[in-house]
Amino acid sequence: MTCEQYQMQICQLLENELRGEESSALFTHLSACSECRGFFHASLQVRAELMNAEPITAPDELDDRMRAAGLIPTERPSSRKTSIWDLRIAFPLPAAASIALLLIIGSLFVAPALFHDPQPRHEFPPDVLQLVPVEWRTPRP
Ligand SMILES: [Zn+2]
Repeated sequence: MTCEQYQMQICQLLENELRGEESSALFTHLSACSECRGFFHASLQVRAELMNAEPITAPDELDDRMRAAGLIPTERPSSRKTSIWDLRIAFPLPAAASIALLLIIGSLFVAPALFHDPQPRHEFPPDVLQLVPVEWRTPRP
């Protein structure tokens, strides 16, 4: 494989699209090739700077000029696109508190069924219990 092909694999690796056997061959090559190692470090640096960069938004006047030139649709979007992750569920506090209380009370009824030990505990004959030192014994409930 050529260095150019390995550098394509570096891009795939950074996108998490490289399979395991390919990545082991890539890392073997990186240990021997300083040029590809330099490419790898530069790619990591560019990626880190892009992750930390402020998002860029085009000014509204650019939208207007592009609309006037017919490059984008003329109707204005009513609002900017909202990601589903930006939406918040509004819940009145009493309703949320009631649901939390119901969950807590419900768990009290469900918990014994989950943690019930179906096997009875072993009972030892009294003479065996006499062999246990007194300080180790716990009183019966
Ligand atoms: Zn190389």
